[in-house]
Parts: sequence; structure tokens; C-alpha cells
Amino acid sequence: LEKFLKRIEAKNDDINAFLEVRGEEAIKRAEEIDARIASGKETGKLAGLVIGVKSNINVEDFNVSAASKTLENYTGSYDATVIRRIKEEDGIIIGMTNMDEFAAGSSTETSFFGPTDNPAAPGRIPGGSSGGSAAAVAAGMCDLALGSDTGGSIRNPASHCGVMGFKPTYGAVSRQGLLDLAMSFDQIGPLAADVSGISLALDVISGYDPADPTTLDSSPDLEVERELKGLRVGVVREFLEVTDEAIDEVIQGKLGAMEDGGAEIVELDFGYIDLCLPTYYLINYVEFFSATRKYDGRKYGHRIEDVCGPEVLRRIHMGSYISQKELSGKYYKRALQARSLIRREITGLLSHVDIIAGPTVPKLPHTLGEELEPMEMYAYDVLTVIANLAGIPAASIPAGDVGGVPVGLQLQAKPGDDGMIVSAMREIA
Ligand code: GLN
Repeated sequence: LEKFLKRIEAKNDDINAFLEVRGEEAIKRAEEIDARIASGKETGKLAGLVIGVKSNINVEDFNVSAASKTLENYTGSYDATVIRRIKEEDGIIIGMTNMDEFAAGSSTETSFFGPTDNPAAPGRIPGGSSGGSAAAVAAGMCDLALGSDTGGSIRNPASHCGVMGFKPTYGAVSRQGLLDLAMSFDQIGPLAADVSGISLALDVISGYDPADPTTLDSSPDLEVERELKGLRVGVVREFLEVTDEAIDEVIQGKLGAMEDGGAEIVELDFGYIDLCLPTYYLINYVEFFSATRKYDGRKYGHRIEDVCGPEVLRRIHMGSYISQKELSGKYYKRALQARSLIRREITGLLSHVDIIAGPTVPKLPHTLGEELEPMEMYAYDVLTVIANLAGIPAASIPAGDVGGVPVGLQLQAKPGDDGMIVSAMREIA
């Protein structure tokens, strides 16, 4: 803990991974746990592990700002279910991490509190929206971090920062206490430097929660042990076609190594790649618009439209437009139909293989401060939104680099097969 606090003190001014750090309280917690160990008492599964939390997850007494001016003075009044579980297992919450405002972005540049730098590729974006969590892990400021993933926000920054990130099956982890971006997509998940951190965190945070009716009855089986030998790995041609050549080369190298290790590569085709971004963003706008109606200035500080940044405002306006009664569901209904098609297609492909492997993000992170058009920003997400549209588990692990800039390999599996991904991560990391 002391090592982490020192590193935060030395580097956080430059990196801006943490928005709030509570060193003294963390030390007190650590001393309590130490005392328990010294007196021979039992400790939890996360005893002594130091954890950063994305600023859209409620932690009692911490600033849960979602990196927005709207909630700049909002203090969590309770612990989200995932936080309660972490505390019960003696994890030490060290602070709150930076993110895109309300998790609506892929670069962490839209934070009201300024951007985060990428510790693995300084001067570039760390990805997003959980960029602070990924940067904190990459910079060695904590053991583990929590992120939220609506369309890639755990896997994208994990890929850009050279760490691991895991989005569980929809419903595997409680969303109670998470500020919604789009609630039919959102999942909380861990980022860590190694597989054991990921699996430990998943084990602690997943499971049925009466406070979140969308959680599943049973937790995913994380004890799966599958050797690389004989593992059927699907490679989707269209995923590689939309990917920059230099990234494609890194991924091919990793796939080749998996094949050398005995994996069986199965080539697959996915017919709806062009539908993914429009479908995802349309549903995202509608659900986000609805989720933001409570920020009307009465209960929580500011009225969101008065203080938010342009991307949040765009989504509110688009969501409000699409939800108009006069349109009688014209766009929204079609998006839901497209979502079913995409879900059916990807789960159909997954029925032929154990996992699908490919790039996490099709392009390299841009230079901090470079201005991108909205569609250019959304293009980062084309390969990650599929898992959210379908509710399937997906992870990103480091695959190599292009001129020093990290590149992630994405692994996706059938709903509930989170353990298959963890086992594959162990085999190929
Ligand atoms: N970049 C995507 C978006 O802006 C995903 C964000 C996320 O997963 N929170 O919606």
C-alpha cells in the first residue's frame, strides 16, 4: 500500500489516473487487516489487495462524480453491491479513477477533470471510458481496478494501456450502485496486470443480487481448466478486415502462437459488422437519455444539460429525439431487431467454437488533444460493442505492440462461459 501511495504521489499529477485518493483511510484499513493476520484470525480473499474504483460506482463517502460537473459535489451515501463484496473480502479501496463523462466515450478526454495520460504510451489517450482505471493499473498505482463496460469501456483502455480487462456475461455481476450509461449493456468488471487478479476479482464480485433483478441466479463457473491443446478458437474474417494492418499483424502473431500451442483455428464469417455501431449507439442514446432525467438539478447539484460536455449533450438530444412519441418507435424498434440479429449471429458462431479471438480495438490510440469527429471516435468501438449487444463475456489481454504502443487480443465466449475465457487467458498470457 505504501508503495502504491508513493507512486501515486510521484506520478498522478502527470497521469491523472485518480480523481480522489484516500491514503489515510486505506492505511487504517490495512492496519486492521494486518492486526487480524497477526492474531491468527481469518482474512478475506482480497486481503491486502489495493483497488481503484471507476468514478461511476457508488462508494460510501467517496466522490462519485462520473467525471461530470453535474455530480462534482456528489458523495456516495452507500456502497454498491460490488464494493460491499470487495470490502467483505478485505479489499482496500484506495480511490476513485478518472473516466469519460458518464462513461460516454472511448478516450477519457471528456472528463470534466481533464484527460488521463497513457502510462504505456505517454502522450496518447489511455482509451476509455475506464481510462483512469487502466492507467492506474498500468502505472502500478494499485493491484486491481474496477471499470464499467457498456460498449467496450473496460476492454478498450485495457488494450491501449497494455493490461487485462474483463467484461462479464450480462447479469453475472450486480449493477446495483453503478450510474447507468445504458442499462441493458452495462456491466462492471475488473482490470488487472495479471490473470490471477482478474479471476480473483470476478470470483468476489459476481453472483446473484436481490437488489439487481437483472442478475443471473448462478455465478459463472470460474474453475474451468482447458488446455490450449484442442481448444477451438474462432477467428472472424470481418473483424480483421476492419482492423489496421499493423494491429492485424500483431494479432496474427498471437493466433499463430496459439496454433503452435495446439489450438485449433476455425475461420468464421460474421455478416452484420456494419450494423453494430448504429445499433449500439441508437440504443445507447435512448437508454442514456432516460437515465439522465433524474439529473434535473433538484436532487443532484446541477441540471445535466446546463453543465455537461458536448458528447453527453449529443446523446441526450439524440435520445430525446429518437424516443419521441411521433416516431412511434420507428428507429428504436429497428435497433432492437438488429440487436437480435447480431446476438443470434454471434452466439451461432460461438456454438462452433470454444472462444472467438481477435483484435480488441481496430486502431491505435490517438495523440492526446487531437480532435476527432464523433464518428471517428465511435469507430474505436466496432469490435467491442458486439459483446454488449449480445450479453456475452469478453476480455482483452496484451498481445504485443506496434512501435511500443500496446495492442490487445479480445477473447469472447458464450453467455455464462466467463470461466472459459479466464482459462484461455491463463494459457496464452
Ligand atoms: N465508447 C462507447 C460509448 O461511448 C462505450 C462506452 C462504455 O463502454 N462505457 O458508448
